[in-house]
Amino acid sequence: MHDVIIVGARCAGAATALLLARRGVRVLLVDRAAFPSDTVSTHLLHPTGVARLRSWGLLDPLLAGGCPPIDSISFRAGEDLVLRGAPYACDGIALSLAPRRTVLDAMLVEAAGAAGAEVREGASFQRVVWEGGRVVGAEFGGRSAFVERAALVVGADGRHSAVARQVGARVIRDAGTFGCQFYGYWQGLPDVGTQIFVGGGQAVLAYPTHGGDHLVLVGWPHARFAEAKQDIDRHFLAAVAASAPGVAEYLTADARSGPISGSGDLGNYIRESAGPGWVLVGDAATAKDPVTAQGIGDAFAQAQSLADRLPAALAAGPQAVDVATAAHAADRERDSATAFETTLTFAMGGNSAALLPVLRKIESRPDLISMFYGIYAGQVTMEEFVAAVG
Ligand SMILES: Cc1cc2nc3c(=O)[nH]c(=O)nc-3n(C[C@H](O)[C@H](O)[C@H](O)COP(=O)(O)OP(=O)(O)OC[C@H]3O[C@@H](n4cnc5c(N)ncnc54)[C@H](O)[C@@H]3O)c2cc1C
Repeated sequence: MHDVIIVGARCAGAATALLLARRGVRVLLVDRAAFPSDTVSTHLLHPTGVARLRSWGLLDPLLAGGCPPIDSISFRAGEDLVLRGAPYACDGIALSLAPRRTVLDAMLVEAAGAAGAEVREGASFQRVVWEGGRVVGAEFGGRSAFVERAALVVGADGRHSAVARQVGARVIRDAGTFGCQFYGYWQGLPDVGTQIFVGGGQAVLAYPTHGGDHLVLVGWPHARFAEAKQDIDRHFLAAVAASAPGVAEYLTADARSGPISGSGDLGNYIRESAGPGWVLVGDAATAKDPVTAQGIGDAFAQAQSLADRLPAALAAGPQAVDVATAAHAADRERDSATAFETTLTFAMGGNSAALLPVLRKIESRPDLISMFYGIYAGQVTMEEFVAAVG
């Protein structure tokens, strides 16, 4: 008998498993993938997420493993606006990172295992087990089929969560899909931090990741997804050449480290995320367009919130567990409401024209430039920023 079964072992599930196992909770962590395993994500982590990794003792190993620290950002918009600054600090850390998911997720899974969680890979969740109106376990197939019981089943199985479907979790806000993103990796770009180029109906970003690679990404409105996908190399390289010629010159075939990946499956939604014997975390609970790059940091925050509440509740019995998961879900909804709306505004391309005159006022104010980046990280609201600019 486990206390908790967690379905999905990436940044939401493995982080939850790690934190619970460290508190002595008996955790079964299951994923159909085997780690290290990649997933579609441009994996930029704001200082909020970096600070969590530090508090979990995982920042130093990540840096020591060759994940380059990113301590500067440049933002170019329109004809001539250039903002240079540092990421907005969180708990004294003004650092972003872009750890490959093959590294980050595997590190979390390994740390969860080292903390005492039982990890089963290559097993696919099939259905939850109900008893007396509450979830009391889960059934898995795959290389070996098994059924396990637990006081709580955590769905950390991403956007198309089968756990959410099984427990009947309603989508309580479906805000639609506005963007699509494509990205690839190239060697040899100079490390000048995160570069952002916005304008002409697209955004181009470049930042360093492991092994001398830079991730270069292009974001378009979703209407361009189908057409771009047909001939992605041509569309991608043309977009970078138009918005960021200084980056485009490095994107040669020889310097390329792999294929261009991407997704148009970027819907913005919030699901009901707790019920009797079950709870959802990460993208299973809520997801936003990656324009603000908050998904991984949000998953970490949810893992922390759940792990802070559960151990005492598990000791007190099923009703206490349901109270704890309901409180966790209510806090998540309240805490993330503003970031959700801000992300929608950015994803819809709103604000750009209105923002330019405001941004021109801060070109020589590194403190306010950092604060502007804090909007993307969900640390600062647009209203707070505009008020600070005056
Ligand atoms: C194009 C793109 C770019 C992005 N860029 C960023 C970015 O720069 N920064 C950022 O913070 N976020 C970004 N995101 C969002 C981020 O990737 C997600 O928010 C994050 O991966 C969510 O983590 P998760 O653990 O909740 O789910 P996932 O990462 O989706 O992991 C779910 C896990 O569940 C497993 N699983 C699913 N179904 C089953 C099943 N039936 N049985 C067993 N296992 C199962 C899967 O194998 C997977 O390992 C981006 C997303 C996309 C699509």
